[in-house]
Amino acid sequence: MPEAMVAPASDATRGNPAQNPTQEVDVAVIGAGFAGLYALHRLRQAGLTAVGLDEAGDVGGTWYWNRYPGARCDIQTIDYSYTFDPALEGAWTWSEKYATQPEILRYLGFVADRYDLRRDIRFHTKVTAATWDEGAQRWQLTTDNGASVSCRYYIMATGCLSAPKPPEIDGVKDFKGAVYFTSRWPHDGVNLAGKRVAVIGTGSSGIQAIPMIAEQAAQLTVFQRTPNFALPAHNGPVPADRLFLLEGDRATYREQARWSPAGVPWPKQTAVSWQLSDAERRERFETAWAKGDLVYILTQLWADQAVDVDGNARVAELVREKIRGIVRDPETAAALSPHDHPFGAKRPCLDTNYYATYNRPNVTLVNLRQEPIKAITASGITTDKRSFDLDVIVFATGFDAMTGAILAVHPIMGRGGKTLSEAWANGPQTYLGLTVAGFPNLFMVTGPGSPSVLSNMAVSIEQHIDWVVDRLVAMREAGFTTMEATETAQEGWARHMADCSMLTLHRLANTWYTGANVPGKAQGVMPYTGGVGPYRGICNEVVGRGMLGFKLAGPGVAEQCNDGEIVCLQPDVRLVLNMLAEMNLPPIETLGAEGARAFLNEFNKSRPAGRLVGEVGEGMLQGADGPLPYRLYRPATPGPHPIIVYFHGGGWVLGDEQSDDPFCRDMCRRSDMIVVSVGYRHAPEHRFPAAAEDGHAATRWIAEHAAELGGRAGPVLVAGWSAGGNVAAVTCQLAKARGGPEIAGQLLVCPVTDCAFDRASYAENATGYFLTRGLMFWFWDIYCSPADRTDPRASPLRGELSGLPPAFVVTAEFDPLRDEGIAYAEALANAGVPVEQLKGRGHFHSSFTMVDVVITGAIGRARMAEALRGFAGLPKQTTQRDDGARPVRPAVPLDVNAAAG
Ligand code: NAP
Repeated sequence: MPEAMVAPASDATRGNPAQNPTQEVDVAVIGAGFAGLYALHRLRQAGLTAVGLDEAGDVGGTWYWNRYPGARCDIQTIDYSYTFDPALEGAWTWSEKYATQPEILRYLGFVADRYDLRRDIRFHTKVTAATWDEGAQRWQLTTDNGASVSCRYYIMATGCLSAPKPPEIDGVKDFKGAVYFTSRWPHDGVNLAGKRVAVIGTGSSGIQAIPMIAEQAAQLTVFQRTPNFALPAHNGPVPADRLFLLEGDRATYREQARWSPAGVPWPKQTAVSWQLSDAERRERFETAWAKGDLVYILTQLWADQAVDVDGNARVAELVREKIRGIVRDPETAAALSPHDHPFGAKRPCLDTNYYATYNRPNVTLVNLRQEPIKAITASGITTDKRSFDLDVIVFATGFDAMTGAILAVHPIMGRGGKTLSEAWANGPQTYLGLTVAGFPNLFMVTGPGSPSVLSNMAVSIEQHIDWVVDRLVAMREAGFTTMEATETAQEGWARHMADCSMLTLHRLANTWYTGANVPGKAQGVMPYTGGVGPYRGICNEVVGRGMLGFKLAGPGVAEQCNDGEIVCLQPDVRLVLNMLAEMNLPPIETLGAEGARAFLNEFNKSRPAGRLVGEVGEGMLQGADGPLPYRLYRPATPGPHPIIVYFHGGGWVLGDEQSDDPFCRDMCRRSDMIVVSVGYRHAPEHRFPAAAEDGHAATRWIAEHAAELGGRAGPVLVAGWSAGGNVAAVTCQLAKARGGPEIAGQLLVCPVTDCAFDRASYAENATGYFLTRGLMFWFWDIYCSPADRTDPRASPLRGELSGLPPAFVVTAEFDPLRDEGIAYAEALANAGVPVEQLKGRGHFHSSFTMVDVVITGAIGRARMAEALRGFAGLPKQTTQRDDGARPVRPAVPLDVNAAAG
């Protein structure tokens, strides 16, 4: 039954809360922008009473306030629209590809009228405090205008970019001219004709406003601290190709948007930058430049542009080339060219004539990196080098983003009197970006920890509100009245957020995404970087798994607390496993050896090609019983290099010297050493001990032929993954027992070390993580009869371990082989062998060899290469590339996913 609602306060009682009654509602919604309006509509449909509260005089949210000249959306308007009602879509036609602020505001007004939402909104009303009333199990809100509000549920639809940053420059108050903020632009406009105007700030707002202001002002001086990447919008009619797609099948188009990475339906790019020629890359870039679409240029050039510094640097340079082509003065062009952040790591801008504006005689760029502002004075702005007399200063200096609108608006006091500001003292902590432990029944729309500003907000807003309102309805049906995230769930989400932040390059820039734009603010990547579609899947999974991570309670019903973590896998591992599950493959062990080999060949064809190394060669070497093929990877640097003898994975049955090609290339590049991958013999044609004996014989041959191979004479290193890790470990034991060759170190990646199947990881990870218990049984059966399995050449854990070469042992959390890998590392250490362990949290058996697929494995791969270099006596690498070595203060302490054991 909806709770009673009283009318908003009359003018007579405005501003005097003591005289006001309390307005009782089921739900209070703060904000009447895109999110607030849809929330009110859905709540009303669900039969819940609601009040909207907004400081503004009308609906619109950010579009109510940001009325500066040139203000437009930067996601194509057909995508930046509500999709919940096909009739609404039919009733409104956008006039342009990127609508202006007035048109978007008209649209939101149209929506408010169409669904009669204004009657539930109290404008000019600011919430001054929100307190959780433990006794009543309700939120009590005080306002600066009219009745206070008592509500069961409290929804912050306050937007991510709505709390303007104060000017952090001395002397603003002394300035005798006019001061404006783009984020609070006067409603009746500003006449800048004939004026000497300054704009401080070159983010999206500044970049949109500057060309318009330059056309009016007598003189415009732009004060730029950090140059930004901007792309021409090419505004005009809605592009015919996008309209065709949308109108051809609206439902599918919208559904694809909901499951896409950024909330706009574009296909996933598969080609990586190093697979494309210069000409191909340029052609793709020119197409993107001509399209004038941020989502397109951020996602459609090549697959590694957003995740890899090298792939990204190629885009960045092409944009800088464009800037140099447009701006006539080379010094100005250089100052406008960003070099301090990857393209896309800071929000790129969409512009109309931005760079060309600097060719105008009335426009001057002041590079604050070379001449910082000293102060604002009565007459203008003084830098280290000069003074500028001004009539008007426009601050386009941005927002206290994502958390500002939630924290700065009013104190929010949750359970036990703890405020949200206290809870977030070290950065925002949320579960799903929607809820906060200790703050029951408080919901944030597109809050920190959700895709929010890295997505098409319209899509994310609808998803959040649908999820929240559906939960409220489900709770009502079950008799629950409170819902609260658990600490475990929230901590797990923080770990998942940190893991996701390793997927993209956002961590490498100081931006409002990371809180770096506000002095003193806790820093870390605040939006969820795992993508809109995966995030939606996770939110659905929370519900599907019985509200995992939430406590639900209500009068007369038993409390339900389904504590736990929703995502324990690394985000990209989760995607890989989901994709494999969707393929519905038959168990590999049912295919027979030949069928399984054919499957692996096909499977490997679909992976990204390995990166370029100096040279790849093939040849034959002498195994234990005849010649064996090998593949050699040589670094591009001058040799001779130390040699790593590598043994591929495949359960002694599958694979060959080429099957771990991307991993071999990666190790070659990272370690700067030669990798020789050996095609050792396989079962069932050659059962135990063929693989083990080949491993030893091949290593001896390679050591003896090091000079011919272009390698450094002296000890070699061995490395292997899975069954190859078994061969590598056995090779070290045989080399010691048989007097050579000399081995300087061993890298064992998720190795098979023992024939016992009773360790916990065999049970915990029996199914669901690609390498199953059943598959391991099959591999063992084909390779080795039970009687032979305790032979140390099959189970090196049972061998003589003292005196073996130093080892680096990698294990993965979700791998049946995890515990035997750990057991081997511990046994080596107990035998006095120097050992380093790397336990891959959230990883599965194949994580580290799936180069350029499991991006989060890069940290581990970097450490493996460092270990190999250490074994070979090479100095530490000074440059780290895509290994996450330069995190920008993540929102949570960085718990590297590859923790040292
Ligand atoms: P912003 O991106 O944070 O840009 C603020 C600019 O002001 C930056 O260039 C910043 O330099 C500069 N700045 C800040 N404090 C300064 C100081 N004390 N001295 C000198 N310079 C200072 O803010 P925004 O332009 O308002 O845009 C914020 C976000 O809003 C955008 O990224 C976008 O997501 C959204 N937005 C969208 C549109 C659209 O097209 N739909 C339009 C406007 C805004 P530093 O970089 O050195 O900090």
